[in-house]
Amino acid sequence: MDLRDTQEEAAFRAELRGWLEANLPGERRGGRGGAQRFDDAFGREWSRKLYDGGYAGLTWPKEYGGAGAPYSFQAIFYEEMARAQAPGHVGVIGLGMAGPTIMAHGTDEQKQAHLSKILSAEEIWCQGFSEPGAGSDLAAARTSAERRGDVYVVNGQKVWSSFAQLADFCILVTLSDPDAKRYQGLTYLIVDMHSPGVEVRPLRQITGEAEFNEIFFNDVQVPVSNRLGEEGEGWQVAMTTLLHERGTLGFALTAALDVSVGKLLEIARERVNGDAGTRERVAAEWIELQALRYTNYRALGTLQRTGIPGPEGSAIKLRWSEQNQRLTKLGRELLGADGILDDGWWHHQQLRSRGNTIEAGTSEVLRNIVAERVLGLPRSR
Ligand SMILES: Cc1cc2nc3c(=O)[nH]c(=O)nc-3n(C[C@H](O)[C@H](O)[C@H](O)COP(=O)(O)OP(=O)(O)OC[C@H]3O[C@@H](n4cnc5c(N)ncnc54)[C@H](O)[C@@H]3O)c2cc1C
Repeated sequence: MDLRDTQEEAAFRAELRGWLEANLPGERRGGRGGAQRFDDAFGREWSRKLYDGGYAGLTWPKEYGGAGAPYSFQAIFYEEMARAQAPGHVGVIGLGMAGPTIMAHGTDEQKQAHLSKILSAEEIWCQGFSEPGAGSDLAAARTSAERRGDVYVVNGQKVWSSFAQLADFCILVTLSDPDAKRYQGLTYLIVDMHSPGVEVRPLRQITGEAEFNEIFFNDVQVPVSNRLGEEGEGWQVAMTTLLHERGTLGFALTAALDVSVGKLLEIARERVNGDAGTRERVAAEWIELQALRYTNYRALGTLQRTGIPGPEGSAIKLRWSEQNQRLTKLGRELLGADGILDDGWWHHQQLRSRGNTIEAGTSEVLRNIVAERVLGLPRSR
């Protein structure tokens, strides 16, 4: 297998590199990620620039404002963005989850109404799946949707909703039939976050920032035309969202890790002083990164063949999140007290990495997926 760029891929990479050089101001490179990227209007402005440059929704069909490019172009995009330490598009949930779900299950009206606005950052989306009593076990969702004529009336609470403080729309998993068998009573809705009865309360994280939120729904009226898929088929629609959540993120995660490993090597060259144990730990992180990179190529192969992300996405997310925690801990250890006096990058990365093994599926849940769907072991329940 030849992993080098084809002629077209190399041309795309060179063009993108030049575009980033010309369009990304120097002071906007190397940010910490996290909530910081929403501090000013630059996030939406930058996302719009990516869209105008033709770099948002690279693999999306042209009719929805995408570029209709192969998945390998998306992988190159993530690599080059990380290389330039460029801030990402703010529409993380719209681009990675809501958009692909609307493309798979939406009506023509829903596609026309939302897809190009997701790409241009005119619409920011959030994901209302988790509840106080339903996280890993999404089928336990209790936020209710009661059908009254042309609307569903939604009541309940979601939690840990990233970007809800900014969002214009939410992809919401609701319980429309409390008497139905497990998995069969759920309905998936698109909710306008500016509707009366929607209340968002930010939750502060260990980093001190508030990236995620509680959302309360109090008699919120959602038109039936905003339903994605059929009533009672919310579980199947949600599975499409989750497949995309983990499936296409691998290259972005690995590219960001590449930057962190590079920074770790810089500190290690200055500070390790031939200490064999530490040298081994640093080398092990570099080797892990290469393993992750090649697993990504395998995932890309599946995606290019089938158009649907495979279970490799779960393995990549698992290994990446655990490595990011180890790596950021090692970075802080190597810096020692100096790590408190510098710009706080490693400190912030380490605190933020705690959530990595919980968000988008906990490590235990991902191990179950790998055991059952990749290795064919008996189901845990
Ligand atoms: C930074 C961050 C951002 C997030 N953003 C969003 C968002 O935008 N939208 C959204 O809907 N949610 C979001 N979440 C929530 C996230 O999806 C949930 O936290 C996650 O699914 C786990 O659910 P829970 O917190 O209810 O924990 P639980 O499901 O209650 O799990 C508790 C513990 O039990 C373990 N466990 C649970 N089930 C099993 C099992 N079957 N086998 C073995 N162990 C098990 C888990 O691994 C965990 O250790 C976010 C979370 C974080 C940390």
